[in-house]
Amino acid sequence: MEHQILQIALDAPLDFCFDYRWLSGEGCAPAVIGQIAIVPFGRREVAGMIVGVTQHTDVPPDKLKDALAVHVQLPPLNTEWLALCRFAADYYQRPLGEVVIPALPKNLRGLKTISLDRALKKLAKPGSSHDSTPADVPALNASQQAAVDAIASASGFAPHLLYGVTGSGKTEVYLQAAARILSRHEDADNHAQILILVPEINLTPQLEGNIRARFPGVMVATLHSGLAEGERLGNWLAAHLGQARIILGTRLALLASFPHLKLIVIDEEHDPSYKQQEGLRYSARDLAVWRARQLAIPLVLGSATPSLESWHHAQSGRYRQLDLRERAVRDAVLPTVSLINMEHDKPFEGITATLLAALKLRLERGEQSLLFLNRRGYAPVLACDACGWISNCSRCTAFMVLHKPDHRLRCHHCGLEQRIPKSCPTCGNVDIQPLGRGTQRVEEGLQALLPEARLLRIDADSTRLKGSAQAAFDSVHRGEVDILIGTQMVAKGHDFQNLTLVGILNPDTALFSQDYRASERLFAQLMQVAGRAGRVAQKEGGSVSQVLIQTRYPQHPLYAAIIAHNYDRFANTLLAERRQAGLPPFIYQALLRADARELSIALEFLKAAAVAVQQDGIIINDPIPMTMTRVANVDRAQLLIESVSRPALQAFLKVWIDAMRQIKTRARWSVEVDPVDI
Ligand code: ADP
Ligand code: ZN
Ligand code: ZN
Repeated sequence: MEHQILQIALDAPLDFCFDYRWLSGEGCAPAVIGQIAIVPFGRREVAGMIVGVTQHTDVPPDKLKDALAVHVQLPPLNTEWLALCRFAADYYQRPLGEVVIPALPKNLRGLKTISLDRALKKLAKPGSSHDSTPADVPALNASQQAAVDAIASASGFAPHLLYGVTGSGKTEVYLQAAARILSRHEDADNHAQILILVPEINLTPQLEGNIRARFPGVMVATLHSGLAEGERLGNWLAAHLGQARIILGTRLALLASFPHLKLIVIDEEHDPSYKQQEGLRYSARDLAVWRARQLAIPLVLGSATPSLESWHHAQSGRYRQLDLRERAVRDAVLPTVSLINMEHDKPFEGITATLLAALKLRLERGEQSLLFLNRRGYAPVLACDACGWISNCSRCTAFMVLHKPDHRLRCHHCGLEQRIPKSCPTCGNVDIQPLGRGTQRVEEGLQALLPEARLLRIDADSTRLKGSAQAAFDSVHRGEVDILIGTQMVAKGHDFQNLTLVGILNPDTALFSQDYRASERLFAQLMQVAGRAGRVAQKEGGSVSQVLIQTRYPQHPLYAAIIAHNYDRFANTLLAERRQAGLPPFIYQALLRADARELSIALEFLKAAAVAVQQDGIIINDPIPMTMTRVANVDRAQLLIESVSRPALQAFLKVWIDAMRQIKTRARWSVEVDPVDI
């Protein structure tokens, strides 16, 4: 038996570790760093991570509590993983426990000891995948080959930007590089592990199937928020125990444990979903770079429209750029992009005559079309002409969106719902009208225009049930749909085989957004959705694949760049603008947010924070209400901090946060490092 003092990180809003006493039982090995302990905390029993083991504590003996259990059956998390968590906590200015504990599967956070065998049983064992015949491996084209060679032969920390147009076969590069690295470690005791991150697994089920088919002898595990807890535990353990060789996951997978990690791939690295927007607001992409450096392994960031941060690093030589300039499928070419000037070609039911004609042509030829509109619901607002009433949300600075199929007005920000009023709530006018157009309305209008067409709408509303998105995409792939109408859900990743037309409705609003990142995002989104067309060679008598953009601003340079499929020039122009304007990636930012029942309380706090600490080289901007000030009856304001030096900003934040803790306020506040939504 041995007495130990365990220093334990808990998921608590306090920035230090807690001491507990631990008496390892008879025949039991003493506790070690990296093990999970269950401890009393307040009135609860919570899981903590052992981050230090000593004999000494400053806690008086009568105050010192005993740990209730240590999960000794689980091999401890290793120092590499703990170092990653420490870095994340330090960099994002959060308590260590807030990083460590949520990164563990929920089932490891209870008193119950788990049976590793039982937890692992649910996992698909290698060879048990659907078809046991290995899939065909396509011969790589020259650019793909060069990319695979570069990645697989890299030694040490080697970040790569795989810049490949849509359909250029980036996935094939990931898979073949992974195969090379796996086979290189086959004989070693420590088999290699490969982590592949994607923005959202549910939208790319093809990829999981492809990987399993391609690596029939290898255990593949997925990690994402859609897994049931038991499954998540099993998959996490398979990674932690080194059994899973390929882990396919979303951003949360980056914080899992991989003892033998040899390659990290981030597909669609520009995607906003790699940034967590609550709690620990981390960027999985940025942490991946750190993790790859720490492990001295190669990293692949893949995109047709890289983030300006990654693009900047590639331009300046910090990342090695690998180009795939052409589509991989023989004779498949990028679609031609044209603009439809809505000032001349006035839309009816949101569809211009030119677009309607193009849709009809596809219908006649038995080809599929996709209409992209990034706004779900029927109409963004309901209004009364007579008195000016509009369907404001009573709890947010936002409109209630009209959802016609379920006869509801719904706020997309706080979830408030109500029946659609029969008449104006203010003046009684019965003729209240929807303004604007969402996917439901486009679907309705289009069905009237093309009664014979088989339409399918895919958005967050139509796919609420588990598995329904998958079923919807399957029916598109089976050819049961003529026209697909969707939000950004349809833009990502899908390899549609018979789609020759993409119509883009109403993208203009983002052109004039206050958010300086809006144009970068719009460009990426349009390129991505455009990339769904023409992924196979043009059939005989078939259509040239085409993208039609309905716009009121056909002169806008962003559209010129889309037409030219020229991300390079566009990105370089944006970078030059950002450099001039002193915006990221040329400066570093942090955002202080404050929430309160009243705006004045939030602003009051920010004003106090703004003068709490002064430091040279740190710019403290004025506090301002957020554009959408009120959400769910909470008012929100923010304060932006900037510096040309990242270390200076980091040092300042530590001092500043300490100082802010001394400010008395009823506002809730938090600091976000490298904010993306300002
Ligand atoms: P990306 O991720 O770059 O958009 P994908 O990886 O989805 O592109 O590839 C597009 C299509 O090209 C897929 O159908 C894929 O099977 C095919 N493909 C990839 N590489 C090759 C190759 N070397 N030869 C033939 N087809 C390929
Ligand atoms: Zn009215
Ligand atoms: Zn609301």
